[in-house]
Amino acid sequence: MTNSLTERDAKVIWHPYTQHKNFLPPIPIVSGKDTLLFDDKGNSYIDAISSWWVSIHGHGNAYIAEKIYQQAGRLEQVIFTGFTHEPAVRLAERLLPLLPGDFSRVFYSDNGSTAVEVAMKMAIQYWGNKGEARTKLLAFHNSYHGDTFGAMSVSERSVFTAPFNDYLFEVIFIDTPTPENIDQLCHFIHEHGREIAGFIYEPLVQGAGGMIMYEAALLDRLLTEAAADRILCIADEVMTGFGRTGRLFAGEYLRHKADIICLSKGLTGGTMALGVTAATERLFEAFLSDDKRKTLFHGHSFTANPIACAASLASLDIILTEECRQRIERIGQRHQAFLQTIGPSSVVRNARATGTILAFEVNTGRDEYINAIGPVITKQSLERGIYLRPLGNTVYVMPPYCITEKEMDQVYEFLVHCITSLEEKNSIRI
Ligand SMILES: *Cc1c(COP(=O)(O)O)cnc(C)c1O
Repeated sequence: MTNSLTERDAKVIWHPYTQHKNFLPPIPIVSGKDTLLFDDKGNSYIDAISSWWVSIHGHGNAYIAEKIYQQAGRLEQVIFTGFTHEPAVRLAERLLPLLPGDFSRVFYSDNGSTAVEVAMKMAIQYWGNKGEARTKLLAFHNSYHGDTFGAMSVSERSVFTAPFNDYLFEVIFIDTPTPENIDQLCHFIHEHGREIAGFIYEPLVQGAGGMIMYEAALLDRLLTEAAADRILCIADEVMTGFGRTGRLFAGEYLRHKADIICLSKGLTGGTMALGVTAATERLFEAFLSDDKRKTLFHGHSFTANPIACAASLASLDIILTEECRQRIERIGQRHQAFLQTIGPSSVVRNARATGTILAFEVNTGRDEYINAIGPVITKQSLERGIYLRPLGNTVYVMPPYCITEKEMDQVYEFLVHCITSLEEKNSIRI
């Protein structure tokens, strides 16, 4: 008898964000098609969170797969310094005009965290190259920008960063804007502006911090204030990019345009690891010099991997179709309609939606990532053929755009079931 995959996994794998003591064995997934994941026993699960927010076109997309196959046969990888290739140039040519801002240069890396690292290095070195002493970075409370040290530094200090807090560099954190605090925040930026190199933010929706949503108009005021003090604005659209917020990029809701934008997750349609950091020409020019020390000394082995670039080009073809645009709009409409059906409840708080993202808190325990309700809801959802993975007590839905009306119904039915059973438990306790 050969050991099962879960038994073999238990011996050799260290999973991300997983406490391995007493953990539920992972489910072996053998294939995926559109919204569905299939396990080794033939069960299917609606991937209602797009596999950690990446699979925007669902799984097993034949068009993207074909483009990947073709590119893999032609040129799978080449060093990207001293060489270039069609997929990287073509992707930059197509992406740049779509981005919300005057971006003119694409720097490639491997993932969201590296896209953020590159952005921070660009912003910090920009000022160094210009000979101005600006050293601080500004970020929002509850932000999440990735798991590498620089990205952790600009992220909220939390259970994720706790073991490393002593090693993270100092960052100025401010609250996300509300009508009440906006004047005070603008004043703060104005006071400290001249020491700040860059301001990094997740526009409209803070993802891993708990799907916190805030107003575009208020962010615009902050960005305008920051720009007045020449602070470089870094839009981290790693999660919000590629249709998540209803438009292609969250930055489209803003009047003020960023100087740097970070993309990953949906970039390749969730098929390959790729990161993009795009910058304006003004930024790029600050690195042009006869002095070699002004070079951006950064790169990764797989910078601009041709297969990943080809996958992104294919994903762009799909997301730019009228059909895909309508699907994104439809998910947004259905989320809004669902919000209308949630009445006053003893267990649900702050139900909200932005574009294709729906979220609410359940009132059990404290609002924190290690709240015990998350894994319980995941288990219940799997039993009903749906995959959800709450962030602590924040339940959210972020489906692939190809989700069907019927699958949407199933997801909403599960949410209602979840809420009702928690309400029942509450009333028993009273
Ligand atoms: C996921 C995420 C990152 C990090 O991306 P990885 O590919 O996981 O390294 C950075 N910023 C935001 C806003 C994210 O949601």
